Amino acid sequence: MRVDFNVPLEEGKVADDTRIRAALPTLSALIEGGASLGLISHLGRPKGTDAKLSLAPVAKRLAELIKREVPLLDDSVGPRVEKAVRAMEPGDVLMLENVRFHPEEERNDPAFARQLAAGFDLYVNDAFGIAHRAHASTEGVAHLLPAYAGLLLERELVALGGILDRPAHPFVAIIGGAKVSTKMDVLRSLVPRVDTLAIGGGMANTFLLAMGRPIGRSLAEPEKETEARLVTDEVEGNGKELLLPVDVIAAPSADAEGASGAGTYEVDEVPSHLAIVDIGPRTIDRYARVIKNAKTIFWNGPVGVFEVPAFANGTRRIAELMAESGATTVVGGGESVQAVEEAGLADKMTHVSTGGGASLELIEGKTLPGIAAIPDR
Ligand code: ADP
Ligand code: MG
Repeated sequence: MRVDFNVPLEEGKVADDTRIRAALPTLSALIEGGASLGLISHLGRPKGTDAKLSLAPVAKRLAELIKREVPLLDDSVGPRVEKAVRAMEPGDVLMLENVRFHPEEERNDPAFARQLAAGFDLYVNDAFGIAHRAHASTEGVAHLLPAYAGLLLERELVALGGILDRPAHPFVAIIGGAKVSTKMDVLRSLVPRVDTLAIGGGMANTFLLAMGRPIGRSLAEPEKETEARLVTDEVEGNGKELLLPVDVIAAPSADAEGASGAGTYEVDEVPSHLAIVDIGPRTIDRYARVIKNAKTIFWNGPVGVFEVPAFANGTRRIAELMAESGATTVVGGGESVQAVEEAGLADKMTHVSTGGGASLELIEGKTLPGIAAIPDR
């Protein structure tokens, strides 16, 4: 079973076990079904074998969670690994060492994929977070063994795919984050499907710029102004609602030092020496109105520099408003998911994706190689 146990470590311990717990339903189902289970994962970006990126702390945490021993093999391929895999009894769980200790993994090397598959009868992919990459353990192996989606992968596909295929209306998408250039494909995919598009965060600045607003020293991409204007035209031309910030928090700098000089400004009054760091109270009220009305809400990207507590208000309010709404709520992305978890509201959402890049590529309508390789996708 390919899992995404690429978790943060601190002082040799798992700092956040969300991804490990996310795989437990599949793991239990397989064990209860009488399987013996070998778990494959990557951790970090090692260049060759690197003791600091061993999966040992992960195997230890998993053993605590499932209350059974989880031996860690010292490699992911080779005769000793194959022997240990073949010697497993039903109910046994073992982990292979970090599959990225071999550069062949990311090259999707066919011979390496054959070595990975050696000794196994079936392949289950539950690693949604890496499904957008065609690696030996996510794609190659799926062609060598009978391949199935795990329950987490299924849950992700149902939640994110449901947003695209048959969202209940009104459907509101809230898109924020740093740069519009990384979100253009997401916007293009969502615009025809939504009723309201709310844009916040750093990327809103480029839209404001395209409307001739003064944005001071804000983060923006002037070369993307034309594309931003096309998105605006397409939303409004189709009778849909576009919500851009009407007021903002602006500060001398986007870090903690900037907090003391921060103030609330209308979007046509942002002073030239300040940078936009969050959405303002009137903007939050406008977002609140559409969120309360919505039947489906998809959120990606923080609407402010939420890493700085003084600039986290807008992002936290979005999370709270979504949590309180009766709508189907789906959150996807890296920092947006982090913000929801920090607010302690992950349990209040219909679905919080475990895949940052993978969730966005799915929303963009791209084919994810790890999913495409599974016959019963
Ligand atoms: P996600 O990972 O959820 O897809 P992104 O990676 O696109 O989100 O963007 C996250 C980053 O956007 C955060 O680190 C946040 O600080 C930054 N950001 C949000 N609003 C602003 C802003 N007004 N100015 C600068 N950076 C911003
Ligand atoms: Mg990110």
